[in-house]
Amino acid sequence: MTATCGMCERNLEAGYLCPGAALALAERLERMPKLYEALAGFLSPAARGITERVSLVLSEPGLPVDEAVLDLRYGGIALVLEQWRSDVQRVRGWGEPAVIGDVTGRVLRASRWLGMELPWIADCYPAAGDLAREVKELESFVLSIIGALPDRGRRIGQCVAVDTSGVICGAVLRHHNGETRIVCPWCTCVYEAEDFLMLKTLQPEEAP
Ligand SMILES: [Zn+2]
Ligand SMILES: [Zn+2]
Repeated sequence: MTATCGMCERNLEAGYLCPGAALALAERLERMPKLYEALAGFLSPAARGITERVSLVLSEPGLPVDEAVLDLRYGGIALVLEQWRSDVQRVRGWGEPAVIGDVTGRVLRASRWLGMELPWIADCYPAAGDLAREVKELESFVLSIIGALPDRGRRIGQCVAVDTSGVICGAVLRHHNGETRIVCPWCTCVYEAEDFLMLKTLQPEEAP
């Protein structure tokens, strides 16, 4: 085995991202347009209510909008995603992508495109780990501003799937509100809601 995951450095048979890292990247790309939208509420220093905004504006006319938010909204997020898209297209020998439309549309198109090309990126793109890391950092940065941490989910237990060589997967499985099934981040085995109880009874003994 010579390949390793560019994110977590697990050994891989081939490729540049393990299934878990690829899934996490897919989810981040899917969330990115929503995070971008959420930033709009932080463009003004007083996104707290009309009355408060009026008094703030009146009392502190020079109060600047958050520059970090401005950067992210008017360039930052779109540029980061577009630069990665451009590089993936370059590596594949395709032309430069056209950058058109408003920033909202650009963020949406670039994240969708990267999401759709993810199988190729995980398998064949040597910089996949850097891409995944940068998208993760971008997301953390946005979250540090909008303050909404992602739902980490409730720990259900460890994955009990056994691979062909008899090794138990052991990945930590988390359940997020509203989910009716859990997909293991390592082995991608699927647990339906009715399996959750079975999963609990099969857990290895561990300290609470
Ligand atoms: Zn990995
Ligand atoms: Zn598993």
